[in-house]
Amino acid sequence: MASEIFPGVFQLDVPFVKHPLRGIHDYLFRGRGEGSRNLLIDTALNHDACEASLRGHLQELGARLEETDIFLTHMHVDHCGLISRLKRGENTVYASETDRVYIDGFQSPSHWEWLTRSNVWCGVPEEHALKPHEHVAHSNRPSGVVPIETVRPGDSLTYGGYTLSVTDLAGHTPGQVGLWHAPTGSLFSGDHVLNRISPNITLWDMDHDYLEMFCENLRRVKAMPLRSLFPAHGTPLTDINGRIDELLEHHAARLALMEGLVRAAGRPVPAFYVAKDIEWSKGDKFTDISIQQKWFACSETLAHLCHLVNEGRLCSERRGETLYFCYQG
Ligand SMILES: [Zn+2]
Repeated sequence: MASEIFPGVFQLDVPFVKHPLRGIHDYLFRGRGEGSRNLLIDTALNHDACEASLRGHLQELGARLEETDIFLTHMHVDHCGLISRLKRGENTVYASETDRVYIDGFQSPSHWEWLTRSNVWCGVPEEHALKPHEHVAHSNRPSGVVPIETVRPGDSLTYGGYTLSVTDLAGHTPGQVGLWHAPTGSLFSGDHVLNRISPNITLWDMDHDYLEMFCENLRRVKAMPLRSLFPAHGTPLTDINGRIDELLEHHAARLALMEGLVRAAGRPVPAFYVAKDIEWSKGDKFTDISIQQKWFACSETLAHLCHLVNEGRLCSERRGETLYFCYQG
C-alpha cells in the first residue's frame, strides 16, 4: 500500500516474509516535472518479494527507478538490503560515513566474525553463541558493494520541492541519520523512535557509549519543534514526546535492574550472567528465546552495563576479551 502523506510525498509499505518485523515503511519524495529526480528513503531486505513490492510501488506512482536517488537512514539490512538490486550508475545512494563503513563490511567474512565476537565480550558459553553465518542479517545483506555518497548532519537535500536537512540520530546504529523538513515539522526518523518496539541498542565497539548516544538523541528530538514523526516500522506515532519518555524510562528501568543484578552477584560477572536473568520481548525468559535473540539480548545488556560503568555506578575489568562487571560500594 502507498499513501500520500504530503503533496507528492508517499509512505510505501513493503511487507517482509517470515521475519519478526512485519515490514518496513519507505518514503518517496516524487520529483516535480519532467526529468526531476525522486528520493526514496530506505529500501528493504534483499529478497525477491521485497524487490517486487518496492518496484510495484514506484511504478504505480510513476517514479522511474533510474530517476530515483536513495537515502539510507542506517546500515541495518532491513533498510539497505536491496540497494545492490536497485542501484544503477544513475542512482545516488546516500548514507552517513559511519554506517557506510558497516554496509561495505557486509561483503567481508571478517565483518561477520567481528559481529559475533561480542559473544566473547559478553562471556556467552559456546552452546548459546551465535555463529557468524547464522546472524539474521547475513542472508538479507546486499549482494555486493555499492558506491555510497556520504552525508553529514546539517547537509541539505532537495527533492520534489522539499528541502530536507540531515539529522543525527545515532545510537541504534553508530551513524543513523534522519531527514528533517522544517516547514512541516516532520522528521523521517528510521528506527530512532518506534511504537511498541524498543529499538535495539548494541555495543558496536568498546570506545563509545551507544546507549548514552541514543538517549541523548532522544532528548534532542524531543526538544525539536516536531509535528510529525515518520518511523520505518509499526504504527504512526501520535504522542511523540510521550513515546520518547517511555523509551527513556524503559532504559532507566533496565539500567536499575542490571545494576541490581550485578550488586546481588557479589562478584565480578560478565554480561551473559546478567542477560539470562532478564525478561526479554513480551515477557520471554532468556532460556526460551532463539540463539539470534540471545545475541541481541547479550549485546544490549553489554551496552547497558558499559553505560553504568561510564556513569560510575559499576566498575569493570577485562579478563582476556571478556568484560566482567562489579560493584564497589
Ligand atoms: Zn534498524
